Parts: sequence; structure tokens; C-alpha cells
Amino acid sequence: TAAGVQVHETTAGRVLLGPGARRCVPSEVDRLRAERAFVVSTRSAAHHVDECLADLGSRAVGRFDGAVVHTPVHVTEEALALVLASRADVIVAFGGGSATGLSKAISARTGLPQVVVPTTYAGSEVTPVLGETRDGAKTTRRDPALLPDTVVYDPELTLSMPRGLTLTSALNALAHAVEATWAVDSSAYTDALATEAVSSITQALPLVLDSPTDLAARGRLHSGAWLAGCCLAQTRMGLHHQLAHALGGSFDLPHAELHALLLPHVTAYNLPAAPAARERLTRAVGDDPVQVLADLAAQHDGARRLRDLDVPRDALRAVAERVAAAPYPNPAPVDVDSVTGLLERAW
Ligand code: NAD
Repeated sequence: TAAGVQVHETTAGRVLLGPGARRCVPSEVDRLRAERAFVVSTRSAAHHVDECLADLGSRAVGRFDGAVVHTPVHVTEEALALVLASRADVIVAFGGGSATGLSKAISARTGLPQVVVPTTYAGSEVTPVLGETRDGAKTTRRDPALLPDTVVYDPELTLSMPRGLTLTSALNALAHAVEATWAVDSSAYTDALATEAVSSITQALPLVLDSPTDLAARGRLHSGAWLAGCCLAQTRMGLHHQLAHALGGSFDLPHAELHALLLPHVTAYNLPAAPAARERLTRAVGDDPVQVLADLAAQHDGARRLRDLDVPRDALRAVAERVAAAPYPNPAPVDVDSVTGLLERAW
């Protein structure tokens, strides 16, 4: 395209949102003209899968509840054998990013359509991206064919999220939206998504932390996470996601917790170089964005610093060197000393 011309490809087709939406899975399976549904999940979603299999009746042909973080290829191969033996013609997934990752990995190998029912705020269900690991090494592919056909957000499924997961997963979603505000390829469209995601998540999260069964606030958080996932799909992420990948991959760290603790530090690092993002975020949160993010992150009862995750301090510089050698596009300069300083503060 000509210089200065923006291009947008809008992602995922069909999204259902609201309490009880999970009970629509059978009609969504019908809508895809599928007749044999195989359900994948993490163990946390087992009783929702029981309910869904009962709802599907004779259309249910199998289940696999062993999805785990980072989509290891050996787990995919184990599930794939069952899917092929069942002669399934659609994958249904219940769970967080781990279940969605497994669903995408199976779809990538079979071409099967997907109905994804997310139980966290990770956002993977609306991105055309799949990260897989084999013997600890991660490969990532991006292909519109990976996008689930139907996404079903039912906030009732998030009521069981423990406080720590609620907080860190919501901050993981916020990170997608915050990075979209300073993305090199941001546009009016992604700015609108990001601003609404940031304001709904920062408003709803304190309500949910105070009252974890507040279904309306849980619903607002889930829809904010949806928009944040769209930000992840539609803009190029910067230093925050690069650091999360580099640290997460090197030390096998918990995904959402790592995002949660890094976000205030990267935001403080980037905003001086991103005045438009600062203005947008300030308007969205009605206060100093760095302070708001730091106050939210400080409410976590678990790891709040890299040292709490057993990251060795003397390894930080090597991470900064890797990141600075091939930086993602980022508003503030990415050099070894500055990034080491940022990591030291997060440590
Ligand atoms: P997850 O799916 O691993 O879930 C975290 C833990 O919470 C698991 O133990 C799970 O069983 C449990 N859990 C999930 N939902 C629950 C609920 N409602 N109640 C109680 N427990 C629940 O973690 P995640 O943070 O959702 O996803 C992380 C994974 O997703 C990583 O592998 C990450 O790389 C991937 N991801 C991919 C993309 C993408 O676009 N490809 C985007 C975001 C995340």
C-alpha cells in the first residue's frame, strides 16, 4: 500500500456476550453445520464441560481436559489423536488462554472450526496468533485461519476465578490495550477499542475485587477483555509484550502474573515518549495512568516483583541485551542500560 495509508483487517466474526451465553454452545455448533463436537479444556472448567456435553447430547463425541500453559506440542498431539479418532467436525474450548491455544493448535492441524468459551481475560480467542512450545522452545504463527469462528463470553464462568487470577488476568488484558495506545500502527479504530477497554477494565476491576460475585461488573470486565484482545490482534505490541515473552520464555514464569507486575514499570518508561498515549490513558482512567496501574498491581497478594518469581537479578542484563538486539517497535528508545534499569525496578 502507499506510504501513509492505513490497513485494517477486523478479526473474529461472531461474539456472544452475557450471563448464560454458554448454554448457546449447541445452537452455535448447529449454526456451523457441525454435528460432532469435541470439547477441550483445562481441568478448572471440567464441570462446565460436563454441563456442555449434556447440552450437546448426541452431538458430543469426546473431551480432553489436559490443556496447559504455552501449548506444548506433545499435549496437542495427545489431544489430536483423540479428536481424529472421534471424527469430530468442530472443536469447542472451555478455559483460559491455555484451552484456547490447544483449540487453535488442533484447528491448525485439522482445519476444524472452533467455538471458544473463555474463562479468563487473556484475549487469545480473538487473535489470529498461536504460540506453541516444543522442548521449551517457543514458535509463534499468525494466520487468520486460526481465529475461532464463534466466541462465547459468559461472565458466570469467571465467578470461580480466584482473586489473584482475576487481578492478574485483568492486568494482562489491560496490557494489550495500554500497548495499543502507543502502537506504531494505532488508528482511530484501535484507539477507540483501547480507550474503552482501559476504562471498562479499570472501573470494573476494583468492583470485582470488592465483590467477586458482582455479575454486572464481571460482565464489564469480560467485555473489556474482549476489546483488549482485539487490540492485541490489531496492533503491533511493544516493549511490554517483548519483555513478557523474553522473561516468560527464559524462566518459565506464570503468564498473567508476569504481565501484571511489569505493566506499571513499562508504562512509566514509555509515557514520557508517548504524549498522545498519555493523554488518552489519562482520560480513560481519570487520573495518572501509571499510578492507577501501580495501585491495581499492588493489590496482588502473590508475586509483585520479579524477585518474587525467583528471577535471578544477575540475569536481567542478558534479557535486556536480547530485547535491545531486536526491539519490537516502541515509543521510548530500547537500549541495554535503560531496559536493564527498568527490569531492576521491576525486580
Ligand atoms: P490459563 O488458561 O493457563 O489459566 C490459568 C489458570 O487458571 C489455569 O490453572 C486454569 O485452569 C485456571 N482457570 C482458568 N479459568 C478459570 C476460572 N474461571 N476459574 C478458576 N480457575 C480458572 O491462563 P491464561 O492467562 O488465561 O492464558 C495464558 C496462556 O494463553 C499462555 O499460554 C499465553 O501464551 C496464551 N495467550 C495467547 C494469546 C494469543 O493471542 N495467542 C493471548 C493471550 C494469552
